Amino acid sequence: MKRVLITGITGQDGAYLAKFLLDKGYEVFGIYRRLSTPNFWRLQYLDIFDRLHLIGADLIDEGSLIEAIHISQPEEVYHLAAQSFVWSSFEEPISTAEMTGLGVTRILEAIRHVNRDIRFYQASTSELFGYSPEDEPLHEGSPFQPQSPYAAAKLYGYWITTIYRKGYGMYACNGILFNHESPLRGLEFITRKLSNAAARISLGLQKEISVGNLDAMRDWGFAPDYVESMWMMLQEDEPDDYVVATNESHSVREFAEKVFSRVGLDYRDHVKVDKKFLRPLDVRYLRGDYRKAREKLGWRPKVNFDDLVSLMVKADQERWKRWMNGEQFPWDAIHYPHENQFLSRSERITR
Ligand code: NDP
Ligand code: GDP
Repeated sequence: MKRVLITGITGQDGAYLAKFLLDKGYEVFGIYRRLSTPNFWRLQYLDIFDRLHLIGADLIDEGSLIEAIHISQPEEVYHLAAQSFVWSSFEEPISTAEMTGLGVTRILEAIRHVNRDIRFYQASTSELFGYSPEDEPLHEGSPFQPQSPYAAAKLYGYWITTIYRKGYGMYACNGILFNHESPLRGLEFITRKLSNAAARISLGLQKEISVGNLDAMRDWGFAPDYVESMWMMLQEDEPDDYVVATNESHSVREFAEKVFSRVGLDYRDHVKVDKKFLRPLDVRYLRGDYRKAREKLGWRPKVNFDDLVSLMVKADQERWKRWMNGEQFPWDAIHYPHENQFLSRSERITR
């Protein structure tokens, strides 16, 4: 049985990847950090919690990462843990650099010291590009122009992965994944924020939702499709970097329009713009060219934009209906605290 270690197993991608690898027959280890409220709801939601080995570790704690590699003795490490929210990276730029940037070197050093034959996946991102010309989708050779502290930290992670590959001959890959969403997406990201709001509003639990830049455009795919590409990258003879995307771009406005229309509502009656959700800098448009992943790995997206919108709002509606019938949620993140109580540093910067 092949052994694998996933950092960030409690996050969206970590949970789907763990399920995918369990289904492939892997023995799956994951690291989690101590929180005042445990955060295993995604693993419980997918009904895989009892099948995993969980090791306490933190990206800031080198010794804990070395220990995690020693305990799990993996053949593959998927490094997904990060402070992953762009908006928060403007609020907390230094801890974002620590976790999202330096965290990559810490896990690579742990691998280098314990067993440099371990195959390594780094969760790189389309945010590295920062800018996309509308007539040419982004590919592995497109220039990087990061637009946030998060993207700058990920740029460091991208390069340190490349440097360990070339310098130490390690099998280390960058998956340059464009935005990918699901019913397990954090509620602070725009797709889930909108699907959750549309579900609640349609059931009479809420009246409106405040958002930021409705004109931003993203290449949105479905997370379970994307975790499969991570595994495919580590099965090749040689390590390499790959763009994973759908080659389609849609605006936040279009997502809002579609998600509200799925529940019979007009988004214009319920979606308000609040400057607080604007960013000091925003990436306006992203679209990715996944040709290399298709040709070399045989990967392609299976779920299209319309189906993604539908399945997200359907899942949120079902959850809230169950809650209205008195069922307790095993997933504690379902009811994000009232956003208006949060003060925003970005708001002060953009004023
Ligand atoms: P999530 O935010 O859902 O998950 C992040 C994970 O990182 C969580 O398990 C979190 O643990 C863990 N983590 C954060 N800080 C630490 C720390 N100091 N020590 C240990 N663990 C930590 O992200 P996603 O699953 O959506 O994304 C996975 C990766 O892919 C991230 O690196 C993200 O930046 C990257 N990415 C994501 C894209 C997307 O569209 N989803 C696109 C491109 C890249 P906890 O539960 O305790 O908070
Ligand atoms: P990102 O692409 O990783 O930053 O993913 P997000 O889902 O956080 O944001 C995608 C786009 O939606 C960005 O351009 C945001 O500026 C835009 N957006 C508009 N309103 C909101 C909002 O209320 N919350 C978030 N998270 N993003 C918003």
